Amino acid sequence: MDYKQLWEGVLTRLSPVIGKAHLLSFFKDSIISRFENGVVTIAAPSTIACNFIRDRYEVKLFQMVREMDPDVKQIDFEIQGGLADAEHPSKVDMSKFGGMQARERKVPNKQEVLLEDGMRSKMFNPRYTLQNFIAGTENRLAHAACMAVAAKPGDIYNPLFLYGGVGLGKTHLLQGTGIEIKKNYPNKNVVYMTSERFINEIVEAIGKKHTSSFKDRYRKVDCLIVDDIQFFGNKASSQQEFFHTFNELYDAGKQIIISSDRPPRELDELEDRLVSRFAMGMVVELQLPEFETRMAILNAKCQEYQVFVDREVLEFMAYNVQTSIRELEGILVKAIAEAQLTDTTPTIKSVAEAIRRLNKDEELKGFNVDLSKRMTVRTSDDVIDLVVAYFKLTRSDITGEERRKQVMVPRQICMYLIRELLDHSYETIGESFGGRNHTTVLHACNKIGIEMDKDSRIKRDVNALKREIGV
Ligand code: ADP
Ligand code: MG
Repeated sequence: MDYKQLWEGVLTRLSPVIGKAHLLSFFKDSIISRFENGVVTIAAPSTIACNFIRDRYEVKLFQMVREMDPDVKQIDFEIQGGLADAEHPSKVDMSKFGGMQARERKVPNKQEVLLEDGMRSKMFNPRYTLQNFIAGTENRLAHAACMAVAAKPGDIYNPLFLYGGVGLGKTHLLQGTGIEIKKNYPNKNVVYMTSERFINEIVEAIGKKHTSSFKDRYRKVDCLIVDDIQFFGNKASSQQEFFHTFNELYDAGKQIIISSDRPPRELDELEDRLVSRFAMGMVVELQLPEFETRMAILNAKCQEYQVFVDREVLEFMAYNVQTSIRELEGILVKAIAEAQLTDTTPTIKSVAEAIRRLNKDEELKGFNVDLSKRMTVRTSDDVIDLVVAYFKLTRSDITGEERRKQVMVPRQICMYLIRELLDHSYETIGESFGGRNHTTVLHACNKIGIEMDKDSRIKRDVNALKREIGV
């Protein structure tokens, strides 16, 4: 039994137990990556999926793996970033489990490119297109460069070098560009591969003692896309081969597209001559998109999944997940899956709990109060505590005299909420805020009431706080 059969058997057992929504959301692209000395290693493409699988299903999975193969003594988990991006021989066809993937089946078959000796390129994931990449102002340049390359490969931006942190859309853009080139020029040979894969091939070629012909294998390539070049590290022989391949293709006017987690000059372990080749084309940085763009991405993903999620809930996600778009997407998918299971729609509370569970030590912006208990607000102090936690301020900020906007507005929101929820008199509220005059409180409450109609941010904050209180 190979890894794929083993994993397929496990997933088939798991499917009726956990439901297809969970299965499709979190086990998609997972594989069994190793089975050595009785230890089966399960690999998932993201931290989110990996943690989720481990936290929820470790025991069940262990039982099921053992049912399949009694020699298994232990199971282990790991993250393999590249899994989501391309084909893998151990991947199980999830479409047999039905559900959400039905939509994916409609998209065209993955394209593949055959090289002369039958070596196949990594294939493209049709989900990653230049059209569904939301550029925002931050990444407009990167997106435009990819479009330009796709329109005229090998022409102006060569090589094209994209860099940026994990989960910011490098693979998406690289693959999208490859797909677009194939669309514009169906006869061009486009090869996408990770640098790991490139290294593996070289190692294999060395094993078979025909490195000299290595670059010949790439002669027919019109566009070479190499993802995550930083993994070349200090592998001298791979770099050398890549250098030759690069020069050959470059001299022949072929397009080269490269991504990395850092700019060329910081690729310390790479030879200078390679680094200077990278820098001679177009070098663009990918950045974490601003809040507005993150919202646009979430909205687009909701459409893709054909689900409705409250705007406030999406805003809460966009506000709190600030590390990568991959995490953002992961949280969204998770929220959707959970909601589908319980036949509800995602709430701020459920999302907050999901984020908290997955990033155990990360503090949530806005909500470092204990969300496991439903907030019950009885006194003005309760409201002040909640507002203080939400805006990450101190009590003395809220009750004090400071007039900076970052403090003033939360203070006014706090007064407004106390008035609305607890119906305290303006005088009483004034007392809770360091003996302020009742007209000050009246003014604050009116102001927030009016601002809520004009300023979506204030509205969001007030509604989020109310929701947290349970009203
Ligand atoms: P990287 O390769 O930089 O680690 P990926 O390209 O794998 O990141 O992106 C992670 C996920 O986020 C993918 O599912 C991708 O589709 C999505 N994504 C990232 N940026 C955007 C964007 N601007 N618009 C739409 N989806 C995005
Ligand atoms: Mg990537």
